[in-house]
Amino acid sequence: MPDGRNNDGPVAESGQFSAPVAIQSRSGAADEWHRSLAAAIRNPDELIDELELPDRFRQPARRAADLFPLMVPRSFLSRMQRGNPDDPLLKQVLPLDAEFDVVPGFVPDALDEDRFRPAPGLLQKYAGRALLIATGACAVHCRYCFRRHYPYGNEPRRLSDWEPALEVISADRSLHEILLSGGDPLMLTDQRLRVLIERLGKITHLRRLRIHTRLPIVLPDRVSDSFLELLHSTRLTPIVVVHANHPGEVVADCADALRRLVRSGVTVLNQAVLLRGINDDADTQAELCERLVDLGVIPYYLHQLDRVAGTAHFEVPEEKGRAIIAELRQRLPGYAVPQFVREVPGEEFKVPL
Ligand SMILES: *Cc1c(COP(=O)(O)O)cnc(C)c1O
Ligand code: SF4
Repeated sequence: MPDGRNNDGPVAESGQFSAPVAIQSRSGAADEWHRSLAAAIRNPDELIDELELPDRFRQPARRAADLFPLMVPRSFLSRMQRGNPDDPLLKQVLPLDAEFDVVPGFVPDALDEDRFRPAPGLLQKYAGRALLIATGACAVHCRYCFRRHYPYGNEPRRLSDWEPALEVISADRSLHEILLSGGDPLMLTDQRLRVLIERLGKITHLRRLRIHTRLPIVLPDRVSDSFLELLHSTRLTPIVVVHANHPGEVVADCADALRRLVRSGVTVLNQAVLLRGINDDADTQAELCERLVDLGVIPYYLHQLDRVAGTAHFEVPEEKGRAIIAELRQRLPGYAVPQFVREVPGEEFKVPL
């Protein structure tokens, strides 16, 4: 996302924190994640200082953060190794000069999503399910993100702005599942989520509610008791799809948060993106999948990178991805091997590779 548009997402949302925190002060746990979010690192120099990285990373990080702002929650930071510029978690969030590379085939809207928007904030590409962009905000800014150029500023900001999307969903009886995505839908307060989820629950042909979120991974205290209560307050079957790319993410408070989610009775799936120099080897993928299933989280998709401008340095050849999956099949139980897929504009499903 170019800076102007991105400001409509994370920055605008973060400007509202003081209000919800004050309103929710009766519940300590609900406050905590707002505080954690407010404490996230947004300044490249601070990240470099905290991790004791070499000075040569400073200028590039400042430059590339102008393109797409830096954001790293402290919990995620605490799982990185100091003094190691090759840390696999750091590489997902550290702005680099390579983001300015112009590479043929890597374009701003790689998924051509404008064609699939029947109402503001609603994407409908596949049968039986539609995706609501709940907010443009995220708690972490992943440098490889396919939404780094997304025009979130055009999406609904107030609840009344949802009406056209809710009308389309109500009128289409073929829809059985709504995905909340973004950005990250768990950046919304529980109160706002509750209003949206209650509205969706009243649409009788809907059966399932799926939430795509990275917050349980990068800001684990978002998985509060009040959020779990909210997930189970709807008649819709809840499914949570988290996003972890490396086994080093799925430890400590993150592992606890995933365990809490699973034990509350929610189906929890993981999707990962295949990323060069981060998780593009069978040992790393096997360890990630094993840690996930140990926690009761099922590896769902391994995505081939979407070819979005500024992300070419993360791309792994498809061939290598296929070889990794072949090796995982030999090493792991069938349920622990994710489907290796790529999104192809116009296809009716994520295409297996
Ligand atoms: C990825 C995606 C989905 C979900 O696809 P599944 O294969 O069901 O996980 C739904 N809608 C849109 C617009 C998507 O991009
Ligand atoms: S959390 Fe998801 S949507 Fe947000 S920056 Fe990361 S990959 Fe993109």
